[in-house]
Amino acid sequence: SKAQVGFIGLGNMGNPMAKNLIKNGYPIIASDIFPESCKEIQDLGAQIMDSAAEVAERADRVITMLPSSPNVIEVYTGPNGILKKVKKGSLLIDSSTIDPAVSKEMAKAAEKIGATFMDAPVSGGVGAARAGNLTFMVGGLEGEFNAAKELLSCMGNNVVYCGEVGTGQAAKLCNNMLLAIAMIGTAETMNLGIRLGLDPKLLTKIVNMSSGRCWSSDTYNPVPGVMDGVPSANDYQGGFAASLMAKDLGLVQSTATNTKTPALLGSLSHQIYRMMCARGYAQKDFSSVFQFLREEENI
Ligand code: NAD
Repeated sequence: SKAQVGFIGLGNMGNPMAKNLIKNGYPIIASDIFPESCKEIQDLGAQIMDSAAEVAERADRVITMLPSSPNVIEVYTGPNGILKKVKKGSLLIDSSTIDPAVSKEMAKAAEKIGATFMDAPVSGGVGAARAGNLTFMVGGLEGEFNAAKELLSCMGNNVVYCGEVGTGQAAKLCNNMLLAIAMIGTAETMNLGIRLGLDPKLLTKIVNMSSGRCWSSDTYNPVPGVMDGVPSANDYQGGFAASLMAKDLGLVQSTATNTKTPALLGSLSHQIYRMMCARGYAQKDFSSVFQFLREEENI
């Protein structure tokens, strides 16, 4: 039988990802600061621990799926963190979307203790996490890539090596800048079409057979009633929180500034998602930008 794999952070993404590891025969040892999150995988036989340190003590491969940079710093270097108890030779894979500079810091700290850290952020959303067809963008030592791929390929069908540690995050931030711009564009387009008297299902069908087609139009449509099984069909619950998109766009802003790169629409997208968070959309899926635009209808 296979050795236990550690999993820390069982939220919207971590839950279905850990389930796919279980499905592939990996016994899971997990923790989350919110105990409710662990229920489903506990019922599937996972062992639940109180802290990240206790997980790292028992598993020599640990995956983390946490909201943002401060959570990752806490889970790795905090008083009950992974690095307090990690075994030499362990492989630590962080699939959260965070600041690439933090990934580099975590890699250095892990290396000092004789462990390997890799960044492996994901794309695809909760649907792809459930279906096991996420895309992983992996940064770190090339020699460790195959060991990481063995686990990641249980959760994703595209596992791509990007380069040194932090480059997975770089790829992810670029993707999410484009995703944010495309989602806002899709929401604006759908709203305009509705105002022009078009049926949103028909407009979606036309866009999806035309040059405006994108993931936000054909897989994750923001208009309620157009598609089943997406957050817009469920009052924008679950999915990818607007606050997390605002976090990613904030990271995009600082990387664009540091590299003196123009990112005009990326910057505007950041402001739009920040404003949404201030207006009560923080915990809703990011496709609720459609609903946000509908509320601005008298402008
Ligand atoms: P989430 O908020 O649903 O889940 C995060 C989990 O981490 C929660 O269960 C929370 O309780 C737990 N957590 C927070 N701090 C912790 C700590 N100190 N110790 C242990 N557990 C802790 O977030 P999510 O949607 O699953 O996203 C996770 C990451 O993946 C984020 O970085 C996000 O940007 C990225 N991401 C999300 C999606 C998506 O569609 N949801 C897609 C791609 C990437």
